[in-house]
Amino acid sequence: MPEVVFRHAPSRTMAEQDVPGHNRWHPDVPVVTQVRPGQEFRIECREWTDGQIGNNDSANDVRDVDLDRCHVLSGPIGVEGAEPGDLLVVDILDLGPIPQQTGPVCGQGWGYSGIFAKVNGGGFLTDYYPDAYKAIWDFHGQQCDSRHVPGVRMHGITHPGLFGVAPSADLLERWNSRERALIATDPDRVPPLALPPLSHGTLAGTATGDAARAIADDGARTVPPRENGGNHDIKNFTRGSRVFYPVHVPGAKLSGGDLHFSQGDGEINFCGAIEMGGYIDLAVDLIKGGMDTYGIHTNPAFIPGRVEPRYSEFLTFIGVSVDHRDNTNLYMDATEAYRNACLNAIEYLKQWGYTGEQAYLILGTSPIEGRVSGVVDIPNACCSLYLPTEIFDFDIRPGGQGPVKQDRGQVCVTS
Ligand code: ZN
Repeated sequence: MPEVVFRHAPSRTMAEQDVPGHNRWHPDVPVVTQVRPGQEFRIECREWTDGQIGNNDSANDVRDVDLDRCHVLSGPIGVEGAEPGDLLVVDILDLGPIPQQTGPVCGQGWGYSGIFAKVNGGGFLTDYYPDAYKAIWDFHGQQCDSRHVPGVRMHGITHPGLFGVAPSADLLERWNSRERALIATDPDRVPPLALPPLSHGTLAGTATGDAARAIADDGARTVPPRENGGNHDIKNFTRGSRVFYPVHVPGAKLSGGDLHFSQGDGEINFCGAIEMGGYIDLAVDLIKGGMDTYGIHTNPAFIPGRVEPRYSEFLTFIGVSVDHRDNTNLYMDATEAYRNACLNAIEYLKQWGYTGEQAYLILGTSPIEGRVSGVVDIPNACCSLYLPTEIFDFDIRPGGQGPVKQDRGQVCVTS
């Protein structure tokens, strides 16, 4: 096992750890430990809400979750010799749930997936599913299943939802100004268009005094991906991946967390992955001056790992950029097209007895492939969703006896 450079005691919140992590992006969050290029090391991570969600049969905790505290990140890890303009090379050597433990803390043998309420987080289909729901998933080695979604057992594609490096002060200012401009176009929207800096709930790492205040006042929220990496939620950031991050501050200041046991492309229900706490083993290196050399400036690049579930058969659903509720044609809108591909898949799964909420969570958690299939055939963008048929313990394909409708229960609801 590589040296653990960031520890996490599962029973304590991130603020209560001996060395706390942070939950805002800011250049002044102090480095908690230093690593060298070539070093392999382990980081322990808490589940992204800092333990607010329990292994129970109620979605009240998802409904009431305090998103101001999210995401809790482990780090920042300083990298010796890293300077702005370099590329930080990060190899994901391994990751998984909290090792050798079962218990009440997320990651101790179980994870969860949630549909967030429209008034508290929302999700990709929030206009169709505005209330809070949850499913608990139990881990069995590489596989998982859920008492709330019977008939499904899948192999996980473990990955970190969120890793990134610190922004420079200038880059942070650009984020805040452009996101505030977006919010100003519709400031009362529910869910909001973006999340501005918010001092409430800020965890500034080991910073104190003026530095802590500056982080609370100006620190960027962790929900979106940005130029520094951040919350990509790319399921293929799995074991064996090599990521190239643009470096914006001395030492790079690498942080991350939000580990996922499995997730489909799009992470459609916002908390659509199977969330867990656990560990991630990394190795780092530097390409000096690599940002200009390779033209990698506004986002990381990465080489996907070669370890992933071997699903070879899919049933594919297609969507186009039309709002079918009122027959409105949107122009080349890939988001709307993918939304329709998801809705079409949900409608199909309902014919087999799944509720819409169960189907929504299946698409969020299982390793579906989401593809932008066509963006040139005016006026309709076309997206497709590849659902692996082998995750079901019955034949889900059309044909034969037709859909066998069964009562398959329901996910956790609110009281
Ligand atoms: Zn997540």
